Amino acid sequence: MYYFDVCAIPLFLMILIVCYSRKMTKGNANRLFLLMTFLSLISALADLGMVIVARQLPLTETECVLEAAFAYAYLLFHNITNAVLLLFLLSLTRMTSLFRKSWVKLGFILPNAVIFLLLLQNPFTHTVFTVTPEAGYSRSILMPLIYIMAGIYGIGGLIYCMFSGRFLARNKWVSLLCMYLLSYAAVVIQFFRSELLLEMFFDGLGIMGVMLSVMRPEERMDSMVGMESWKSFQEDLSKILRSGEHVQIVVIRLPNSREILSYLGDHQYNEYISLIGNNLQGLRWKHLRGVELYFERPGTIYLTADGNDAELESIVERLHSEVGTGLQEYADNGVRFEPQVCLIHCPDDLQKAEDIISLSHRFHLFDAHREGLIRASEIVHSRVFSIESNMEEILKRAVREHHIQMHYQPIYNVRAGRFQSAEALARIVDPEYGLISPAIFIPAAEETGLIIPIGDEVLDQVFRFISEQNLDALGLDYIEINLSVAQCMQRSLPEKFQRLKEKYGVDPGRVNLEITETTFENISEVVSENVNELIRMGFTFALDDYGIGYSSIQRVNHLPLKLIKIDKSMLDEVSSRSGRMILEHTVRMMQSIDKQLVVEGAETRDAVDILENMDCDFIQGYFFSRPLPAEEFVTFIQKQKSR
Ligand code: C2E
Ligand code: MG
Ligand code: MG
Repeated sequence: MYYFDVCAIPLFLMILIVCYSRKMTKGNANRLFLLMTFLSLISALADLGMVIVARQLPLTETECVLEAAFAYAYLLFHNITNAVLLLFLLSLTRMTSLFRKSWVKLGFILPNAVIFLLLLQNPFTHTVFTVTPEAGYSRSILMPLIYIMAGIYGIGGLIYCMFSGRFLARNKWVSLLCMYLLSYAAVVIQFFRSELLLEMFFDGLGIMGVMLSVMRPEERMDSMVGMESWKSFQEDLSKILRSGEHVQIVVIRLPNSREILSYLGDHQYNEYISLIGNNLQGLRWKHLRGVELYFERPGTIYLTADGNDAELESIVERLHSEVGTGLQEYADNGVRFEPQVCLIHCPDDLQKAEDIISLSHRFHLFDAHREGLIRASEIVHSRVFSIESNMEEILKRAVREHHIQMHYQPIYNVRAGRFQSAEALARIVDPEYGLISPAIFIPAAEETGLIIPIGDEVLDQVFRFISEQNLDALGLDYIEINLSVAQCMQRSLPEKFQRLKEKYGVDPGRVNLEITETTFENISEVVSENVNELIRMGFTFALDDYGIGYSSIQRVNHLPLKLIKIDKSMLDEVSSRSGRMILEHTVRMMQSIDKQLVVEGAETRDAVDILENMDCDFIQGYFFSRPLPAEEFVTFIQKQKSR
């Protein structure tokens, strides 16, 4: 009755073939799964060997030796499989860091060590089993001890499995539990019907089930690059954090990944990334536990390792050169490997998954010019980081408790030789964090939708400012207000302006609204309806940030704009010949289609001279004044006027 054992063998073989063909060979869990299947296959072969040899009694002397050899192989490999299975479970639930404690390590090794010793002494004492020509294989007095030792792994694994439900998706947990239950069922059946030899076959079924529902490479792996996927990283990250154990995360970001991708094309790019992955694997991580690689498209690799090891830091510091040398072929073709690397210690630096992910996406912004390793510990204690981490709360508080303060920056009319208008720029004055720049909070407000209430507050303050000041006396024609895309998409926008106009008695000609080109890239028709309606009411529009990204003169020509504002980045390039030519031609082009022009960001006398020589209409910049709080601004303008 060895049919079941015979069935088990192709089953294990098939699992192995499928694993290899689906490239389930990388990562700890995959490797342990393969090892477990392989050991099971050997155990099944040994088990089958025992049955075949003992088909006819009495045994010859050679048959006795063979039978004993198969028995040793079976007992050894089958018991190691139990231990590997437990390791596999721990690896799936990201709990291998437990092994840093020496008593866990010892407790784990001990039962197998006992089994090993028992088998080692058996040839001399025959206390575990004997093989005789007449009776073949038969168990001896110490065999129950082997069962007990094996049972420790089995029962330990089952208990761990039952309690690990919260670390695993439900279907995965169920199939792991089924694997254990099948194995136990086989043991029980075989106890009563020992001729059935169900055990290996049932183990095979259990492993097959796990392969189908737990080891899903299409879910876990980015098989194009041979690393685990971004989704797996997110899953594993929450497991890691729940375990509370120390883990190090190395974020390796390729800042030029999009360019490389478009240069190499999909296929070659994947090969390039998998080569980087292989080179990373090849570094000397050996003594580090739990090293896993994950890939987030387009170009970020995450490496996790258990523990809190200074060794990792020194490897990471050399990462650029060590990995880079393996990429010579690509470097020769102009693909530079210039990773930005950040090291995060969990849970010391950060404790929440969303904070870790958010830092991984933004760490380079905190220290854009630094080469080499950036430590999360240095960033998380900075002011900007704590502001960004608490942004939503700061924004809500700013709206609720009126922490928005408007500053005004004068705009200089070159031909008239005086300040003719000003731009209103928002700041948050937070009781905890102090003055916060709009460069930080406006993008966050746009993401969270809080830009609407913040924008409302801005409009209210600026309209009030205009109504309270005598702009004519100050020599100012109008004030510019920045409008975000989301504000322009509101159906109620014209009504809002109508209400403000009436509430403060402000002439719409005093308000010039700044919008950007992205506003018009928006598919919604509401935007153009709003713009037209506001123009009909008497408000005017300016295009902000011209020259960032893909600006189009064609579009500018067709839009109802009174003014174009050239972004500071264009002025920054003016020191080079080509940069100067571009600015000069832009000025000419705008004038040829009758658009007035403001150049932003003039910080020095030289910059102002250059712009005056180019005959540009308006200049805005720190050279004249930084944005000032309302009262200071008014004093500044009055002083300038009286000169
Ligand atoms: P923006 O509309 O392009 O405003 C010009 C920015 O350039 C301001 O930065 C201004 O302080 C800065 N600037 C002016 N002259 C110079 C100079 O000579 N050198 C340098 N380095 N910078 C100069 P700020 O105030 O930090 O505002 C940043 C951006 O935040 C603004 O860029 C605008 O897009 C946005 N923003 C500011 N206030 C509001 C608002 O009330 N609503 C909306 N939706 N966006 C706003
Ligand atoms: Mg602006
Ligand atoms: Mg601008």
